[in-house]
Amino acid sequence: MQIKDVIQHLEAMAPSTYAEDFDNVGLLVGDPNTKVTGILVTLDTLESIIDEAIEKQCNMIVSFHPIVFKGIKKFNGSNYVERVVMKAIKNDIAIFAIHTALDNALHGVNDMMCEQLGLLNRKILIPQSENIKKLITFAPIAEAESLRTKLFEAGAGTIGNYDNCSFSSEGVGTFKASEKANPSIGEIGKTHHEKETQIQVTYPKHNESKILKTLFDNHSYEEVAYEIITLENKNQNIGMGMIGELPEEMEEQDFLTYLKKTFKTGCVRHSALLNKPIKKVAVLGGSGSFAIKNAQRAGADTFITADLKYHQFYEAEGKLILADIGHYESEQYTKNLIVSYLRKKISNFAIILSDINTNPIQYF
Ligand SMILES: [Zn+2]
Repeated sequence: MQIKDVIQHLEAMAPSTYAEDFDNVGLLVGDPNTKVTGILVTLDTLESIIDEAIEKQCNMIVSFHPIVFKGIKKFNGSNYVERVVMKAIKNDIAIFAIHTALDNALHGVNDMMCEQLGLLNRKILIPQSENIKKLITFAPIAEAESLRTKLFEAGAGTIGNYDNCSFSSEGVGTFKASEKANPSIGEIGKTHHEKETQIQVTYPKHNESKILKTLFDNHSYEEVAYEIITLENKNQNIGMGMIGELPEEMEEQDFLTYLKKTFKTGCVRHSALLNKPIKKVAVLGGSGSFAIKNAQRAGADTFITADLKYHQFYEAEGKLILADIGHYESEQYTKNLIVSYLRKKISNFAIILSDINTNPIQYF
């Protein structure tokens, strides 16, 4: 198994096309054609993690956070980022970062937070838009059924809990083949009229190359006519944050105690209590202040996130309780998620959960 094979599984878990624009995900260090000896999964890549990888004979690190975030101009070991990259290269260790691709995944960082809290009826808090595409194509009527089926098999036509969704209509297509053409129907130099079916299907954008390959492989025309449109519709299965419900409502104080215990945090910083029970809980692992309004609009009684600043606590506006449980604490279970996913996909292989706590913050 090579690094690129592991990447294929990670891409299936959290397609990198759904990562945020500011992010730096993917294979940051290493050659994708290298044979993998073992995989170490961590939240952050530090020098101590490279040492752990060497000790445990893993030549691939799957890290939640990317160690390289901005461009690096010098490699002389003057800061921890350069030292980590240099040490990884010297020891032939690859580093793959998944970060916001996994934040935006349906079964990602935030689903894992909901899981820890036992939340039910989970939904994405901020569904991403412009990641659903529509294919419109035209095929001879007799071919339409099998082409539609092949497109469904390639992953097109799924809307929520429904598969095989499409719309078709019939009409007449025209074309005239030139001397250089090799038409499957019609004659060179004569305008041909063909009764055709127009097929419309939607698909998630990460599937595009597969969908187009399926179209070209299964269409009889030398030149396949097709159109691709990016839809503005929100995709309920991809996006930041999540909202769900506690099985039973809880008193505020009890909930905060439960939160502190569940995420093993040294401190929960929170806005004023509102003297009402907690039922609806919104979560966003990592720095989530940008989603305060979304949590409020979704009717959350509380919003659990990290990295909230002083003034941002005012944005609770007496409508919900904002709770900052710590950045590391909010994302800590993410590495377990990656390990269990990879173990399911790659059996009998060393996929190791790092023992090192990489949280740079200590509580006094
Ligand atoms: Zn983070």
